[in-house]
Amino acid sequence: MFRCGDVIPDCDEEIRGSEAEILQLVAKHAAEAHGMDPLPGALVSVIADKITTVNG
Ligand SMILES: [Zn+2]
Repeated sequence: MFRCGDVIPDCDEEIRGSEAEILQLVAKHAAEAHGMDPLPGALVSVIADKITTVNG
């Protein structure tokens, strides 16, 4: 899971899925909600670092 608020303090969005799915969904969310289109490469690294995965 990834909490958008970990990167963008005012955002409550929580995104779930595999790491690859989350990165896709975050890119979509960031473009729609935060006007980040495309997502900056440096931010992708930060996001990947903050994704937590839980089996099942
Ligand atoms: Zn957000």
